[in-house]
Amino acid sequence: MKVMVTGGAGFIGSNLVDRLLTEGHQVVVVDNLSTGRRENLNPDATFYQQDIRDETLEVIFAKEGIEAIFHLAAQMDVRKSVADPVYDARVNILGTINILQSGMKHGLKKFVYASTGGAVYGEPRFMPVTEDHPINPDCQYGISKHTVEHYLYVYNRLQGLNWTALRYPNVFGPRQNPHGEAGVVAIFIQLLSGGKQCTIFGDGSKTRDYVYIDDVVQANITALDRGDNACYNLGWGTPVSDFTIFDTVRRVLGPDDEPRYEDVRAGEIFHICLDAGKIREQLGWVPTVSLEDGVARTIEWYRRTGGVGR
Ligand code: NAD
Repeated sequence: MKVMVTGGAGFIGSNLVDRLLTEGHQVVVVDNLSTGRRENLNPDATFYQQDIRDETLEVIFAKEGIEAIFHLAAQMDVRKSVADPVYDARVNILGTINILQSGMKHGLKKFVYASTGGAVYGEPRFMPVTEDHPINPDCQYGISKHTVEHYLYVYNRLQGLNWTALRYPNVFGPRQNPHGEAGVVAIFIQLLSGGKQCTIFGDGSKTRDYVYIDDVVQANITALDRGDNACYNLGWGTPVSDFTIFDTVRRVLGPDDEPRYEDVRAGEIFHICLDAGKIREQLGWVPTVSLEDGVARTIEWYRRTGGVGR
């Protein structure tokens, strides 16, 4: 099948592109390289250095005849969304509408969306969080990511587009960029490998649900022709603390290191983990790579490649 991956030069998108090519699909990547990296691009994919907000995006759809899209290009930094909500909304909402409008004019059939379980529910009322938990984003990024789910619903109702929204947990693995604000596994690996001290924001007890990249890629592959018109959480349903992440990386890279603690940053929730029972029951997806294994694989990749340069 001919598919487009927006954000295909980024962490998750580039891993997905590699897998799609292995599965025999023809892949078109659209990425403006704002946080993505040319080194991540698979030479077997057709690459357009293009902003998803640009009106000329339609030319690509007209030329390439895209049947399905995996939409991962986004402003995905919580703090940036708090500091500059207009930019966040322009990329995450208006950019996505531009894709939808362009794609629908040229025969797009399926839209797989990288949503976020970590930012749409807000501070959970119960855990693990199911898809029917109230939506109460605590930051502008959560609002913009969730807004797109409404648009997908409407494009299905009015124009018959099939969609699947995957609400990701915290994803980690090779190619995650440690130079931004997110991606604590990558950040800790980078710092401890360089003999530098890690900072934990809060007292180390904040929790998240961590899923290894290959499992998230597998969920996307599953959603290509199944799970139409539904939202699915991805996750283990297990809360993992910031300190546990630090300690898991430290055990391999720096057994004597201690973190420094600083104030929690605005827009961050304290606890979340996601119930992925719906996707397990309906599509058979389950996470397979444990935290320890995933961290070990990421460290191995880091040692082999030197990680993500600046
Ligand atoms: P990333 O920053 O590595 O990838 C995003 C990609 O989108 C980059 O290659 C960037 O250059 C590109 N991009 C950004 N703005 C663009 C624009 N205006 N036009 C074209 N390309 C643009 O981030 P990631 O971690 O791979 O995240 C991918 C997706 O997964 C995002 O939609 C994010 O919201 C979602 N997500 C990620 C996580 C996580 O833990 N990493 C968690 C929940 C949701």
